[in-house]
Amino acid sequence: MKKANFNINHKEPEIHVNKPPEKKLWQKQGPFSIWYFVVMFLLFYFFQSMVQVKKEQIPYSQFQKYLNASQISECVIRGNTISGMLKLTDSKTGKPRHFITVRLRDDRLVKDLNQHGVKYSATVESHFLSNLIFEWIVPFGIIFLLWGYLGKKMGGMGMNFMNIGKNKAHIHAETDKSVTFKDAAGVDEAKQELGEVIEFLRNPDHFQRLGGHMPKGVLLVGPPGTGKTLLARAVSGEAGVPFFNISGSDFIEMFVGVGAARVRDLFEQARAKAPCIIFIDELDAIGRQRGGPVVMGGHDEREQTLNQLLVEMDGFDTSKGVVVISATNRPDVLDKALLRPGRFDRQIVVDKPDLQGRIEILKIHTRDLKLASNVNLEIVAKRTPGFVGADLANVANEAAILGARKNRDAITTADFEAAIDRVIAGPEKKKNTLGQEEKHRVSYHESGHTLVAELVPTGEPVHKVSIIPRGIGALGYTLQLPEKEKFLVTKNELLDQIAILLGGRAAEEIVFGDVSTGAQNDLERASEVARNMVCSYGMSEKMGPLTFGKKQTSLFLGTEYGEEKNYSEETARAIDTEVKVLITTSHKRVSKLIQEHRVLLDALAAKLEEKEVLSGEEVSAIVKRS
Ligand code: ADP
Ligand code: MG
Ligand code: ZN
Repeated sequence: MKKANFNINHKEPEIHVNKPPEKKLWQKQGPFSIWYFVVMFLLFYFFQSMVQVKKEQIPYSQFQKYLNASQISECVIRGNTISGMLKLTDSKTGKPRHFITVRLRDDRLVKDLNQHGVKYSATVESHFLSNLIFEWIVPFGIIFLLWGYLGKKMGGMGMNFMNIGKNKAHIHAETDKSVTFKDAAGVDEAKQELGEVIEFLRNPDHFQRLGGHMPKGVLLVGPPGTGKTLLARAVSGEAGVPFFNISGSDFIEMFVGVGAARVRDLFEQARAKAPCIIFIDELDAIGRQRGGPVVMGGHDEREQTLNQLLVEMDGFDTSKGVVVISATNRPDVLDKALLRPGRFDRQIVVDKPDLQGRIEILKIHTRDLKLASNVNLEIVAKRTPGFVGADLANVANEAAILGARKNRDAITTADFEAAIDRVIAGPEKKKNTLGQEEKHRVSYHESGHTLVAELVPTGEPVHKVSIIPRGIGALGYTLQLPEKEKFLVTKNELLDQIAILLGGRAAEEIVFGDVSTGAQNDLERASEVARNMVCSYGMSEKMGPLTFGKKQTSLFLGTEYGEEKNYSEETARAIDTEVKVLITTSHKRVSKLIQEHRVLLDALAAKLEEKEVLSGEEVSAIVKRS
């Protein structure tokens, strides 16, 4: 619903986390290098073969020939092998030849041996050494190596035998009073709710005397980067109490029971330091619904950890002044048991900031920056709908870097513009890597979006259109700037949105008579809007004002993670048809619109190809001329 403002970008910006490359097991140094095992094994084998007398492998038939010719002096029957000495001597060494053969079932063997006067004996099979190697050392070695290898893959918890059961070093109380509520903006409701927690932590006794009842657990819920961790820290800063910070994923270890021990230990430490805060980040890492599909290596472990957490939360008494704050961006996957009273029964939504919130967050992050006098943070905030606190912090930082790189005395509006573009779509490519032909096509594609946005009745004014390639996949984008934040969208607005999304493809068709892959994301989004109109908003006349499919939507994030199909196959077909009708009708409408204004499209595309970036004014100068 809240998608009134949108920018046409061929690919959503992705966040890349740079991890240092992990060393492969065989590149590892130290006692656990795979080479260590290989060398050990070879040495062992070598020595073993040295001490053994060289035995000739002979077939059983040969053995019988020797026996019948009375050429065997003695032999030992051991399990299913017979080894022994021949009366014949080796031509080189002059020593008697040794042989070994595999024993067949032969009832006459003993009789034959007696008959030919062979000295014989039998021993119980004993391959102690080889048994040791092949049945114990080798399999264990393989398991051990695999285990370590998988462990590495699963997050660096492989061979930390030394650390089993011990707490990771960073579970210790922090007392950092430098982060306070002043550092977080745009989250006023969350702050207000957390105010009560602070009040309590400052003075638990006082709070209780007034009959206050403290929730044990507070769950901060919101998309990544909205300031959940920041808020938890600020609560500790404001209340001036110690802060135990641990991430849910830290609990999960290779060994069953370790996570649970860690939870126990954490709560024990916290009780000793009360009043204090336990902050469990990424609660979903341990708090996922139990009984789901088994994830390798950590299922039982995770369940035990979760159970221990539940036990601890039930067991402790809030009057001691321990508050558990937790954060997640996936409240939908949490085990229901966690949300029951007496556990994380208070949930605080930390949502994406609105315009005012973004202005305030920008103010915080530009506090220590030198801004040129013409920089208007309100415009920056207007340019960044959908940005979370972390993105805005990033924008401020990028702007400062860009300004410094250009040796300016202060950060200018242009730096902010460039910084926003970077955060939206990854770093600007230095060289224009689009070929001439591609550039021509992309110019028309983007002009198609722009023209339609300008022509449809409810289109938001275009703020900027660019064909400068940015990052992977984004060849260009058209950015519309909403006049004001919107919370409701009408059917006509949605139809216009679809039209704008289809504008790029339609322009390509009309101009080149051929289409390209560049419209994939546009089409995906257009189909999604159309499907939502039919299935969720009841905006299709044919299907009527009904909803189809129970969306399993996370209330807080507005993200969908599945759909329960509550309609028949027939209805499904009807829905598909309706969606298709919506899209094709829109497509016809857009094609007609563009054909009628072909002159404008050509003018826009030519200008865009020349300048690569057009501002909103430049666009309207061309479009409004008519
Ligand atoms: P989360 O835990 O929700 O993913 P963080 O608290 O880790 O987000 O936010 C990362 C950074 O982004 C913070 O350190 C801060 O600099 C900035 N930030 C996020 N939200 C806000 C906000 N509401 N106000 C000010 N800065 C914010
Ligand atoms: Mg966080
Ligand atoms: Zn497009």
